[in-house]
Amino acid sequence: MKKMNLWMLACLLLAATACKKSENGGGDDEKEEPLPVTEYQPNTTYATKGNQVKLIMGDINSPIVLASPHDGTMTPSNMPVRTNANAVTVRDLYLTDVTEKVANAIYQRTGVRPHVLINYVERARMEPNRALAEAYHQSEEANQLWREYHAFLKGATDMVAKNVGKGLFLDMHGHGHTKHRVEVGYLTSISDLNGTDAALNNRATVSSIYHLSTTSPYSFSQLIRGDYAFGTLLANEGVAAVPSKQDPKPNNDDYFNGGYCTLTYGSRNGGAISAIQLETPGPTFRDTPSLRTASAPKVADAIIKYMQTHYGLFIGK
Ligand SMILES: [Zn+2]
Repeated sequence: MKKMNLWMLACLLLAATACKKSENGGGDDEKEEPLPVTEYQPNTTYATKGNQVKLIMGDINSPIVLASPHDGTMTPSNMPVRTNANAVTVRDLYLTDVTEKVANAIYQRTGVRPHVLINYVERARMEPNRALAEAYHQSEEANQLWREYHAFLKGATDMVAKNVGKGLFLDMHGHGHTKHRVEVGYLTSISDLNGTDAALNNRATVSSIYHLSTTSPYSFSQLIRGDYAFGTLLANEGVAAVPSKQDPKPNNDDYFNGGYCTLTYGSRNGGAISAIQLETPGPTFRDTPSLRTASAPKVADAIIKYMQTHYGLFIGK
């Protein structure tokens, strides 16, 4: 697998620009060259300076993007800890390991490598799952790393849109709620989920799987808690999940319905890439290596069945 360090690339480009300037005699009337847009290639790993964020671009025919934004442990001194009272700083323990294991299991079962994005910096210092204005970073370096994270995520989802035409982005998280079940987030509100199927069917347009709902033969409420809903497929694998056929409503329990990345890279605002935020529990899913080894292939199997049922992909895998 080829490796390209974006920082090195930037240095090379700067060197090239400097070289060009000297050839032109360095006159004051020169126009500044626009920064080139990176042409992402499949089967290539991209990293920011110091490997703080890494994008492992998978196979060209991958319909799947996986991201682990909140399990970073790096503590760069030029990115101070966020101290704003609204800044959530808790780490999502072991989600990078879970994400890599899910990606490997998908590859083993389908022969297709998903695109994988990892943030290695502490969430306390850089927060990818909030709008930049609400990340409350303490430095421009953190802002810049946020921009690079999102450039990578856009690059990965654009790769899917361009080469497959439709796809699924799964944002991987961990919660500390009392009920040990995966919270499957589509941006759909708790009150909508707690309502009737008839009312829920009118809420597809404001969900992160809106595009999927326009191509699927299933009603939106079926996509949320019917036989082939993502939560149902997880529960069929033995991974408790809400909403699902087995556990259709969050009721009054804690439940996350998806954050900034699910909103930005899903299909609520257009496009053919849908998004789901998976909030996983600790004690039954990821807190030990053996739990993660058991859980990750189940998530992969649910993803594959979801792609078969709703996208017509991975048939026969
Ligand atoms: Zn998280």
